[in-house]
Amino acid sequence: MLPTIAVIGRPNVGKSTLFNRLVGRKIAIVDDQPGVTRDRKEAEARIGGRDVRILDTAGLEEAPPETIQGRMRASSEAAVRESDLVVFVVDARAGLTPSDRAFGEWLRRQTVPVVLVANKTEGRQGGYAAMEAYELGLGDPIAVSAEHGDGIGELHDAIRENL
Ligand code: GDP
Ligand code: MG
Repeated sequence: MLPTIAVIGRPNVGKSTLFNRLVGRKIAIVDDQPGVTRDRKEAEARIGGRDVRILDTAGLEEAPPETIQGRMRASSEAAVRESDLVVFVVDARAGLTPSDRAFGEWLRRQTVPVVLVANKTEGRQGGYAAMEAYELGLGDPIAVSAEHGDGIGELHDAIRENL
């Protein structure tokens, strides 16, 4: 079985855009509507010199399990549990939310290696906006723009070092 990488984060932070960028093909649906990726999508890709399986996930929200948000969160947690590495994506433009912090705290208690990604950092102030992600206590955030392709080389390196 190929090593598995899960792309995790709140709805709308750019997980599907990043997933497509890592896979090198447009597989996941990117949409402005939060929560459009209801199902998990997966693809094989070569990342950091290794063949891997990548999972795009629905996006986590704090919510009771009987709601759609709750099921999305449960499915994110399940994806983490079956992964060899997690790419945790936050939106540097929006800033950290309580949901990012809560999930970050849960992730810190898991044993799986985490690569933290601050997305949407293109343009002026982008790198600066990424700094807030240090507060999650999950190591150095990698500043990327999934849409523009900035920082993807660094992300490959970080994945290779942690996988
Ligand atoms: P998901 O819900 O986390 O899968 O997020 P999507 O990949 O569907 O993206 C949500 C929205 O953010 C879409 O409008 C994307 O075009 C936008 N987006 C994704 N990556 C970037 C980025 O690097 N910069 C900017 N400015 N917008 C982005
Ligand atoms: Mg998505």
